[in-house]
Amino acid sequence: RLYNEVQDLKGNIRVYCRIRPFLPGQSKKRTTVEYIGENGELVISNPSKPGKDSHRLFKFNKVFAPAATQEEVFLDTQPLIRSVLDGYNVCIFAYGQTGSGKTFTMSGPNISSKEDWGVNYRALNDLFQISQHRKSSISYEVGVQMVEIYNEQVRDLLSSDGPHKRLGIWSTTQPNGLAVPDASMHAVTSTADVLELMNIGLMNRAVGATVLNERSSRSHSVLTVHVHGMDLKTSAVLRGNLHLVDLAGSERVDRSEVIGERLREAQHINKSLSALGDVIFSLSQKSQHVPFRNSKLTQVLQSSLGGQAKTLMFVQLNPDVDSYSETISTLKFAERVS
Ligand code: ADP
Ligand code: MG
Repeated sequence: RLYNEVQDLKGNIRVYCRIRPFLPGQSKKRTTVEYIGENGELVISNPSKPGKDSHRLFKFNKVFAPAATQEEVFLDTQPLIRSVLDGYNVCIFAYGQTGSGKTFTMSGPNISSKEDWGVNYRALNDLFQISQHRKSSISYEVGVQMVEIYNEQVRDLLSSDGPHKRLGIWSTTQPNGLAVPDASMHAVTSTADVLELMNIGLMNRAVGATVLNERSSRSHSVLTVHVHGMDLKTSAVLRGNLHLVDLAGSERVDRSEVIGERLREAQHINKSLSALGDVIFSLSQKSQHVPFRNSKLTQVLQSSLGGQAKTLMFVQLNPDVDSYSETISTLKFAERVS
């Protein structure tokens, strides 16, 4: 089959594909990326198995070629992020196998260089700038939470009690009635505040990594930005929240090769990613029942999925031919949820 229609902008779900470049020093392997169109078309082929069915066409709202800069990616994300200031709930997440550039897109490779900043730092920077511009008419307050979901347990990465506190309790005290994790909330007034908090979050995440190597690829991290705005003239209140999610690696593990803890992790990741897929799928189908309760991930993200909320998924691809089957499996996930 030549055509795999991925995207036809159903509802408020948008899908962007980003292909990471070959890394410097990496042997020049053959690429699976055959063609990138202007209007979100992507043709993937398997150069090690040429044949008549070897080309597949996918369609997204947008495809970012390997040369795309962090700034270019952000420019296409900005309108969505700004709608949070108008009271919308927004969820942006990066999906893909480990090494496909999820963290690069969401956080960037190096937070000390502004040019490298990913979506999350740019988003907060932008929100502060706009709220500054509007400050004569609207007063904004911004609070952030950062949690990690690992093996179906939610942990507060910004807790003063350390990262090992498990969160089981869900607070429904939000004025919109939606549950948020009972994680510590931190008021922020500048990008510098955010950088400081996120450094703490990253350090706390690394604490777990001494126990389990490379844990970050096997847990989901969720940064939640709560925006509260009050119109100074009418006292009308606007609330919006933004979830920025770096998902666990989507690679399938070979059940015959992993045992014990590693198998348990893989099962949890599998379960939560399929739960996310199921939720977005049922939203795109406008189903009556949306299965939010099936995983901690979908519970945490519930307020920014469905209803008036806007969702953006970055489908991250590694162009290397060795990743061909993972690439196809990632694209199939995207195809189902869009
Ligand atoms: P993931 O979080 O999906 O496991 P990473 O974001 O850690 O993947 O990316 C894997 C490697 O590829 C890192 O060394 C990262 O810096 C690099 N990388 C990813 N995307 C890009 C990009 N768009 N441009 C340059 N390097 C990238
Ligand atoms: Mg990562």
